Amino acid sequence: MKKMALHWKIIIGMVLGIIFGFVMNSVDGGKGFVGDWIAPFGKIFINLLKLIAVPLILASLIKGISDLKDISKIKTMGLRTMIIYVGTTLIAIIIGLSIVNIVKPGEGMSAETIEKIKMKYESSAGVVDKLNKANNQQDSGPLQALVDIFPSNIFKALGDAKMLQVIFFALFVGICLLLITEKKAKPLVDFFDSLNEVVMKMVDLIMLFAPYAVFALMANVIIAFDDTEILLKLLNYALCVVAGLVLMIGFYLILVKVYTKKSPLWFLKNISPAQLLAFSTSSSAATLPVTMERVEEHLGVDKEVSGFVLPVGATVNMDGTSLYQGIAAVFIMQVIWPEGLTFTNQLVIIATALLASIGSAAVPSAGMVMLVIVLESIGFPAELLPIGLALIFAVDRPLDMCRTVVNVTGDATVSMLVAKSLGKLHKPKPKNWDDNYDAVK
Ligand code: ASP
Repeated sequence: MKKMALHWKIIIGMVLGIIFGFVMNSVDGGKGFVGDWIAPFGKIFINLLKLIAVPLILASLIKGISDLKDISKIKTMGLRTMIIYVGTTLIAIIIGLSIVNIVKPGEGMSAETIEKIKMKYESSAGVVDKLNKANNQQDSGPLQALVDIFPSNIFKALGDAKMLQVIFFALFVGICLLLITEKKAKPLVDFFDSLNEVVMKMVDLIMLFAPYAVFALMANVIIAFDDTEILLKLLNYALCVVAGLVLMIGFYLILVKVYTKKSPLWFLKNISPAQLLAFSTSSSAATLPVTMERVEEHLGVDKEVSGFVLPVGATVNMDGTSLYQGIAAVFIMQVIWPEGLTFTNQLVIIATALLASIGSAAVPSAGMVMLVIVLESIGFPAELLPIGLALIFAVDRPLDMCRTVVNVTGDATVSMLVAKSLGKLHKPKPKNWDDNYDAVK
């Protein structure tokens, strides 16, 4: 019998999780039950993905760079990747700003609704936490983000999963492996090659658990929704974000079709498990191992390209996040600071949302923290900030789930484009967890 495709199993897990979440929401003690007995399985799954993300980046990047056999190719790949990343992010922000300026979801919100949202969320732990995080980020100097790329202790960088620091170290090692003799480089290259294979196999095994884990993750998301009335009031705003994100996915599909000549449906089918996990976990960093596995084994992108483009992309390329920031910033202004809605301010939003997408961590709700910085860059009154965040807080989680899908899809698209441009897009060779099982069972 033909095995059911992984993405279908995950979708079934998600749907059942959503239904289960709603049922538990309506029974006494249901929320507690989900929190105590179901949610931990989602947490275990995310922990496992995070566990392998750092060794995977290290192994695949070092192996990939040393396989390039030519330092000038690293420069070409790096430059192309960065240019396409910046280009797609700018397009995302422009799409977002166009939609929010045409639809104007913030106009006409009643004073009563604003007051209700303000009362409920202005001093909530979630909003205060985002404001504190944004403040901490701003206390550092303008070049701190650059300084932060260079680790002083690699074990600390690995332990704290500082993605950019790990990427820098891996690139450094990879380049030095090219600069020493092949004979001397071989043991280390073989080591990382083998580590890479092992971690990829771990991805296959962890993914066997994915349909159950997404059940737990979705049930946990559903029990957190409490005020459907407020959710409905924010529907216009939320729909603007979702429409922008859908347009962005359409744009990626066009790029894939035009530039790589591959069918958009084929692309979507093969990348969908990573998209579904991005949706369920709201974290492109946690999804990274799966994105890498799908892009290498199912889309046929050479390790040399995916090993570089995807880890860098997970950290610096967040098209969904920047699109959302553009819409959220203007929406908040439409509601509580209409005098700030000038053309110049919207240009500043384009620049800061671009930088914010590079600076946002690939974790749940990081986009909202950086939104504070986008707002402050246009002189948004400090006393209105908590109300601004309160306005969008209720729908942030579902929108975070959606924008993370776009972040991950954007990275996968760019890796296809860069691979194609370097002649490194091959016929995919998917591997299964049990390919060698018969020999060892
Ligand atoms: N959750 C997003 C990600 O991990 C970041 C954000 O927009 O909050 O890609």
